[in-house]
Amino acid sequence: MTRRQKVYEGKAKILYRGQAPGTLVQYFKDDTTAFNRKKFDVIEGKGVINNFISSHIMQKLGDIGIPTHFIKRMNMREQLIHETQMIPLEVVVRNIAAGSLCKRLGLEEGKPLPRPLIEYYYKNDDLDDPLVSDEHILIFEWANTFELNAMITMALRINDFLSGLMAGVSLKLVDFKIEFGRLHGPDEDDVQIILADEISPDSCRLWDAITNEVLDKDRFRRDMGQVKESYQEVARRLGVLPDGVVLGRMDPVISPDEEPETP
Ligand code: UDP
Repeated sequence: MTRRQKVYEGKAKILYRGQAPGTLVQYFKDDTTAFNRKKFDVIEGKGVINNFISSHIMQKLGDIGIPTHFIKRMNMREQLIHETQMIPLEVVVRNIAAGSLCKRLGLEEGKPLPRPLIEYYYKNDDLDDPLVSDEHILIFEWANTFELNAMITMALRINDFLSGLMAGVSLKLVDFKIEFGRLHGPDEDDVQIILADEISPDSCRLWDAITNEVLDKDRFRRDMGQVKESYQEVARRLGVLPDGVVLGRMDPVISPDEEPETP
């Protein structure tokens, strides 16, 4: 086995260079952080669950015509993706008031918004990812008008689709964060904006539709316990985890046609 080259290591994922040009391997770690790494824990098996959930969602979004970086799930913790030039923004879509929106504006958590609210945060750990406006994005050239419009259109379509997908398994999609990248074609001006990163309970707020039980990363942020069990419940409802995977230690199971897990 040749050792793959690590391209980047973030809080919850590692990127390795893929075998084919223009591809990367996205490895999902069990590391769990909040508040810009001030809170940290290792939740055994979380990376496996998020790999399965995010693969499922990316596949479905691809099926409805949203361009994504996802190519295929390779094994328990890894997926093959297109390499993109990341746009340094977190795009948050909110349906129900929660989290930082409530803190910032003094709103009551759980209040449905009259229509989806899109917010942008500039990705910069040293600055704690500040909230920015579309004007900041254009003036500082983090994205151009065409790219911003593409991100808005896709964010709203993703929200519509995901809200329905979650409602179908009795979950409320309260809010979520997505990130986009530029996929460069053969010509210099051939650039497509595609959905990148991940969509999982690490990056969404998901509440049970009947009881409002929290089934996402807020369980970790707020020390509510049962973090892994809640992620597992989301995966179970979506029908994405093969039987027997989630009990006990989640050692990788690699079928013969899958690339070996790294490291
Ligand atoms: N979010 C995320 N990564 C971040 C910040 C937020 O995935 O670095 C997600 C978060 O899980 C929630 C949504 O974006 O689903 C909105 O988060 P919010 O702005 O309320 O911030 P938080 O309360 O997480 O600090």
